[in-house]
Amino acid sequence: EIELRRIEKSYGETAVVKGVSLSIRDGEFLTLVGPSGCGKSTLLRIIAGLEAQDSGEVMVAGRCVDDKRPKERDVAMVFQSYALYPHLSVFDNVALPLRTRRLSFAQRLPFVGRAVPGRGGIEKVIRAEVEQAASMLDIAHLLHRKPGQLSGGQRQRVALGRAMVRHPAVFLMDEPLSNLDAKLRVQMRAEITALHRRLGVTFVYVTHDQAEAMTMSDRVAVMTAGELLQVGQPEQLYRDPQDLRVAEMIGSPK
Ligand code: ATP
Ligand code: MG
Repeated sequence: EIELRRIEKSYGETAVVKGVSLSIRDGEFLTLVGPSGCGKSTLLRIIAGLEAQDSGEVMVAGRCVDDKRPKERDVAMVFQSYALYPHLSVFDNVALPLRTRRLSFAQRLPFVGRAVPGRGGIEKVIRAEVEQAASMLDIAHLLHRKPGQLSGGQRQRVALGRAMVRHPAVFLMDEPLSNLDAKLRVQMRAEITALHRRLGVTFVYVTHDQAEAMTMSDRVAVMTAGELLQVGQPEQLYRDPQDLRVAEMIGSPK
């Protein structure tokens, strides 16, 4: 469980997150939705540890993680821009977190099991992990290409694969579909929710697209101008918006 307690963040004089409190349950798909500039990415980056809040606390599994660096938090972030290395193959892009950590074997590796490999076995473990993630994402046939030789949807899958090999307890996704064309965006919605079901871990998803939020999520947190207006299941928000701005964003007639 992730708990945000009265998180505040300003840039200079401008408050961009204004006392946000939110509990995110283990294994749920929670979407932060709201207009451009309302503070969604900032909040996600605070959870990831990429940005420090001015006040308030981030708790994960009952512990305050405010003094933990991003890599020490059990989270993986997937960016809108994919953030792939153009000179590396798809394989090496996906394998990167395993290599930079020198594959800590305290880490869970459910794809290949817990057997600790001998000398020279590390490459085998990395290969097995990357291939397993790639086959789940349907990019196994693209492992030798460079990111520049991929479509937008394929690049997004590579970015997902790179998060998956870390086996995080929490995936943080910042508008992962916004660079895709409309048709692919709809297709990828279903793929990401299927991935969520299959992995069974927590997804915190950020979008300004209310249709994405309403179709993909267990719960939706509606944000405007640095504040959470309402948190609830999609049908709850639709049937019973607590605020006109929620109704407007969700598209219900209240
Ligand atoms: P979008 O949907 O466009 O991605 P967002 O909801 O993710 O928007 P944020 O990126 O969190 O919004 O930004 C919230 C506000 O903080 C914006 O007004 C933005 O201009 C401002 N902001 C973000 N990062 C910085 C920064 N490093 N320095 C100053 N202002 C910033
Ligand atoms: Mg953003």
